[in-house]
Amino acid sequence: MVYQITDLHRLLRKRRRGWVKQKTVVVPGGAGFLGSHLCARKLAQGHRVICVDNLQTGRLANIAGMIGTEGFSFFKHDVTEPLRIEGAVDEIFNLACAASPPKYQIDPVHTFRTNIWGAMNLLDLAREKDARILQASTSEVYGDPEIEQQDETYCGRVNAVGPRACYDESKRAAETLFYDYHHLYGVETRIIRIFNTYGPHMDPGDGRVVSNFIVQALRGQDLTLYGDGSQTRSFCYVDDLLDGMEALMALPHDFPGPVNIGNPAECSVRDLAQLVLELTGTGSGLVEKALPQDDPRRRRPDITLAQRTLGWAPQVALRDGLQHTIEYFIAELERGSAGVRVKTT
Ligand code: NAD
Ligand code: UDP
Repeated sequence: MVYQITDLHRLLRKRRRGWVKQKTVVVPGGAGFLGSHLCARKLAQGHRVICVDNLQTGRLANIAGMIGTEGFSFFKHDVTEPLRIEGAVDEIFNLACAASPPKYQIDPVHTFRTNIWGAMNLLDLAREKDARILQASTSEVYGDPEIEQQDETYCGRVNAVGPRACYDESKRAAETLFYDYHHLYGVETRIIRIFNTYGPHMDPGDGRVVSNFIVQALRGQDLTLYGDGSQTRSFCYVDDLLDGMEALMALPHDFPGPVNIGNPAECSVRDLAQLVLELTGTGSGLVEKALPQDDPRRRRPDITLAQRTLGWAPQVALRDGLQHTIEYFIAELERGSAGVRVKTT
């Protein structure tokens, strides 16, 4: 790889920036599930945080505790439009994009724009500001994998013309954009491939499996099992995910290649449902529904690279993470929906 002289200066300037204590951190998607946790962490670490979100799936409730706090600002903005920010920016964490299949499929073209135009707008901002930028990519780049455990060299098996394609293909293309901005312009890029992550701040109406199951159980409704529930996912607790994400962003040397961050403990969707029933202690049952088209049969990250490069491995067992998440949803349902009776033992 041949850098131009201006790009080398840019890299040197950025290395010197390691001396700067307080950073300005931009978090597109900061009002969402993961983004709001990240904003809170960065603020607690003493950094200035600029949360940028169009509130498509994000909620002001997730960042309400930060609004008005010194060092925190919120811009309602769609990343498909160029983003202008005054002053220096040190880090950008691009988390903007609905992650729940039923949500990102509502307007697939907007989802595509978010991941492509959004990535380009934010990469341009990173280039303008000499900022380091992280892309929240996804295990969906592996599609419906033919191999048991997916490592970063696996190229995936994605259907380009299915209902999930707007998300999968645009996330893949965003990785390409990150690769090219790094190689062409010397932008310091990071790519994290996130496997199913859950925890507090998920929207009760989000539609992903963990929130659906817990909310259904707490409402005394049957849990909706898509297909026979034998498909697997590997569920990572939000705190673990953020530890990995921050470690990747903080690596002092260039590391543009993608890194899997997820919990390799594989679990069938049926076993997840049984665990939620056990932990909530409700009398709900299971009801089978049609399996959505292109629903991946299995997901399990190979995290060798994260372990070797970041010294990272998940710490939170599914049972413990679910317990925290159930406590959050009990409070959330009681606060948000008058009249909803939360059934617990
Ligand atoms: P989320 O839906 O809770 O958060 C996404 C946030 O992005 C929301 O606040 C939403 O309003 C915002 N957003 C969407 N489109 C936007 C746009 N065009 N402009 C500005 N803001 C926009 O989802 P999440 O679980 O917090 O996911 C965050 C990121 O991590 C996403 O990019 C997602 O693809 C990625 N990811 C998450 C998971 C997971 O399991 N949580 C797995 C793989 C990848
Ligand atoms: N799923 C389910 N019931 C639900 C929601 C999802 O059985 O109410 C299944 C879904 O078909 C998939 C798995 O759970 O096999 C994970 O779905 P989710 O939407 O959370 O994430 P993704 O499919 O993107 O991994």
